[in-house]
Amino acid sequence: MNAIAAEAQAQIVVRNPATQEGVGSAPVFSEREIQAAVERARAAQPCWARASISARLAVLRSFRQLLVEQKNKIAAVITAESGKPLAEALSTEILVVLDAVQFLLNNAPSILRPERVPHANPAMKLKRGLLVGQPYGVIGIISPWNYPFSLPSVQTLTALISGNAVVLKPSELTPFSSLELQRLLGEAGLDRDLLQVVTGDGPAGSELVASGIDKLVFTGSVATGKKVAQSAAARLLPVVLELGGKDPMIVLDDADVDVASSAAVWGAFMNAGQTCLSVERCYVHQSIYNEFLQACVEKTARLRQGPGTDSKVDLGPMIHDRQLRTVERHVEDAISRGARLLAGGKALPQLGPNFFAPTVLADVTHEMAVMREETFGPILPVRSFQTDDEAVALANDSEFGLAASVWTSNRGRGEALARRINAGTVMVNDVIACFGISEAPHGGVKASGIGRTHGRYGLEEMVWPKYIDSDRLPGMKKLWWYGYGPAFHTQMSGFVDFLFDRNLIKRMRGAANSTGSFLRRKLL
Ligand code: NAD
Repeated sequence: MNAIAAEAQAQIVVRNPATQEGVGSAPVFSEREIQAAVERARAAQPCWARASISARLAVLRSFRQLLVEQKNKIAAVITAESGKPLAEALSTEILVVLDAVQFLLNNAPSILRPERVPHANPAMKLKRGLLVGQPYGVIGIISPWNYPFSLPSVQTLTALISGNAVVLKPSELTPFSSLELQRLLGEAGLDRDLLQVVTGDGPAGSELVASGIDKLVFTGSVATGKKVAQSAAARLLPVVLELGGKDPMIVLDDADVDVASSAAVWGAFMNAGQTCLSVERCYVHQSIYNEFLQACVEKTARLRQGPGTDSKVDLGPMIHDRQLRTVERHVEDAISRGARLLAGGKALPQLGPNFFAPTVLADVTHEMAVMREETFGPILPVRSFQTDDEAVALANDSEFGLAASVWTSNRGRGEALARRINAGTVMVNDVIACFGISEAPHGGVKASGIGRTHGRYGLEEMVWPKYIDSDRLPGMKKLWWYGYGPAFHTQMSGFVDFLFDRNLIKRMRGAANSTGSFLRRKLL
């Protein structure tokens, strides 16, 4: 049964994926309503952009305090609609947002401050250059369900602090976390037109893309990302695309097997494996392969599964049955092609409709779907390698490039390998945690997306660089304007030599030949 059903009165009905109990319903915004939301945002934005950065930061400070005070209430909403354990709602959602707020409070003023641009060319020395980050206007944000609070919150707060208004379309499976964000920001003093949440499903998302927004930040699957990129291209709408991943974990021969196996189990099963940064492929040096597998199996057996509201639970359900069927298909395909099933491997209907047992597969190959497609479920597929070069080649043999990890007791060796892996982030001796480092840019290469969120690069995505140039001698005509002639030709030739020739004599001769240009009298 689907967790969501469109009803006659155009409502989306949200169900708890662990129990199928109704969480609530939210309206499906029509094209006209989305258009109206964008227009209201557009009308409110110029005043917000003109407000001082300290006025904008004051809203953020109030928001931070409200979120701290209401953390358990918000965590309950996240868990009710996504199914994840309450502890994860706090650690991977609310904590991430609070850290991002702190980053913005500490760094937004300096990153967004206009920057002087010095000129090297002597002909341009009498100009004053200034680089100003201009807010786009209205940023459209489209979000997935797997991190229903942290993803839209960090993107929204970054857009707002840069002087933009936001129209946010959350996933139809998890709209209430975004509505909580909107409520908290309203309580923190934000003009309600500056953040509008338009609930709805895929068509509402495509209407937002076509609505006249000035930039889009889309987070979701590669398939939808491609559709979104096509419609954005039709009107040259700038986009950030945060898409899927198939993150490799490389465990070198000198790694601590106990630590690395704990990381693999947490990295593959956290949020029931439904994290863009999940460990989706694990490569282990052959000398520690069996020991590593045994440790993973033992640790997997100790995990407790159930509804996320139960504080003893490590793993919640998957979001819906479609996701569960993908996981089943990957496991069946892997086993039929020779993989060994060491743990799990089946759905657990006795717990609820969307539960799948955490699964360890050994001896997988790159011919199997589980090593090529994003699984987005609690599967840890493991294979061995013999050399560092082979491990790097395996890690790079993927259409994705979101993140990766290298495990070793030699940091230098780990960092050297990290440089050779094609991914937006490579962690040495950790997994997933990069998403909780607000200074670190988040985003991928290849099919994993375009652009960055988080950190300095995330802030810079929310403004376009405007260069303002002021001439310090407004009463002086420029030497390179009309009024050319043979002498000017010689002068320019000399000037090029003076600036760029490697030969000192030629440079000096060039300087002498070009001085006449300063005395040109026949400028138009
Ligand atoms: P999805 O692509 O199905 O949906 C994402 C959002 O797009 C939803 O709000 C949906 O309603 C909307 N949408 C659907 N069709 C649309 C269309 N034609 N035009 C505009 N919007 C449309 O993805 P999902 O299942 O919600 O999320 C899971 C995916 O998201 C996984 O692939 C995961 O890796 C990825 N993800 C990536 C990151 C990242 O930062 N790179 C983070 C989280 C999730």
